[in-house]
Amino acid sequence: MVVSSLTDRIAQVELRIANALSKVHRRREEITLIAVTKVFPSSAIRDAYEAGLREFGENYVQEFETKRPELGKLDGARFHLIGHLQSNKARRAVDLFHCVQTVDTPKLARRLNDLETNLDVMIEVHLSGEEAKSGALPEKLPALVEAVRACDRLHLVGLMTMPSWSENAELARPYFARLRELAGRFSLPGLSMGMSNDFDVAIEEGATHIRVGTALFGPRRFA
Ligand SMILES: *Cc1c(COP(=O)(O)O)cnc(C)c1O
Repeated sequence: MVVSSLTDRIAQVELRIANALSKVHRRREEITLIAVTKVFPSSAIRDAYEAGLREFGENYVQEFETKRPELGKLDGARFHLIGHLQSNKARRAVDLFHCVQTVDTPKLARRLNDLETNLDVMIEVHLSGEEAKSGALPEKLPALVEAVRACDRLHLVGLMTMPSWSENAELARPYFARLRELAGRFSLPGLSMGMSNDFDVAIEEGATHIRVGTALFGPRRFA
């Protein structure tokens, strides 16, 4: 079995990004590659940082709270919260993350805004029709965008979504297209969409932030 190194895997991901970009005549600077390090130890973040990655995604406040002190100072690194945030963890989230991608209620937005720190945020949109997933329904967006824009410490970067996982990346395409259409309606530049199996399609559909775990770090072993 060939065990590929992190640098090889980064190169493979970069190749896929380049191929997708060339199909739609977009440029590499338009894409932020977020390395998703949930479940992996802090050493994985450090290794990725040393390999040149600067943007990281974590799903759980509590998990990252234990990993963050082990990382020391990582100049220029930025951390994104990409998992659901409960209001009662807002304070801790703001201390740990540069961007919260999962704002899904006006209440959460106001809670974050009250914490007296400037913060990048994205609104998570629930598109896939599955229950048990977080995110705001599209019909809630006008009020939610307005509420976030009224928060003077929050900088609204764009929209984020996570379609249900499928072997076939093409099945995610309509969801990505829909997110782009919604972002356009509110003049939002950022689109966080696409994971290891479908970020190529997401880039074709306009993604600005792709969230990649498995393709960089290998499969996660769940406890
Ligand atoms: C885990 C996760 C990812 C990364 O998924 P991979 O398939 O491992 O690339 C991206 N976004 C969110 C919200 C996640 O929870």
